[in-house]
Amino acid sequence: MNIVLLAPPAAGKGTQAKILKDEYQLVHISTGDLLREASKQDTPLGKKIQMQMESGGLVDDEIVLEALKLRIDQRDCQNGFILDGVPRNLYQAKEIDSLLEKKHRQIDYVFYFETKLDTLKNRIMGRRVCEKCGYVYNVTDPQVQPKKEGLCDICGSALKERKDDTIEVFEKRYQTYLESTMPLIEYYEANHNLYHIDCNRMIPEITEEIKEIVRKRDDQND
Ligand code: AMP
Repeated sequence: MNIVLLAPPAAGKGTQAKILKDEYQLVHISTGDLLREASKQDTPLGKKIQMQMESGGLVDDEIVLEALKLRIDQRDCQNGFILDGVPRNLYQAKEIDSLLEKKHRQIDYVFYFETKLDTLKNRIMGRRVCEKCGYVYNVTDPQVQPKKEGLCDICGSALKERKDDTIEVFEKRYQTYLESTMPLIEYYEANHNLYHIDCNRMIPEITEEIKEIVRKRDDQND
């Protein structure tokens, strides 16, 4: 089973991806995480990625698609994966479809996370990320607050704000989302199974709705 999570920045796709990967034994592929790792390298490519990410725009398609291809080709992706943050534009969506087709694979579910703009802004301001293991928390949301202030529940390392989690960069990222990513809804509605998910709710309710959709499709296919 291969899943795409389509959502504006800070809609909670990372949180759902972590829950769903355990539920269905899938690999969680976040291009944001892959690029953040690549941006740490002290090379012209690393610096370019860092600059593009901090501007709130998109990183070059070729860079993103190359990183994605390498990840999908790894053995652990055989059982399926969840794409979080990719595709971000029509070109990427078509490239991913043709890449999968060559491997006789496909995107089975596209979940489109609908979220109010105010909710997104609050989440951006409260998001904290573990500098060591990358686990994501939100200090404004009791559901995903760390147990000890400023420290990761899992590895105990310090939590930090992401450099691009400022209101100014968020405005740019949201604009990029409207211009580049929103057209994907029409594409996936026409070519794949796209499901609208209301994400202005509690985390377990959102997960339950997704699981119900998968259950129903499984029943139909039996
Ligand atoms: P995210 O962690 O998904 O919020 O991504 C953080 C930043 O990484 C984005 O604002 C982009 O600059 C970059 N990025 C992540 N995924 C992609 C992608 N599929 N295409 C282009 N840029 C991306």
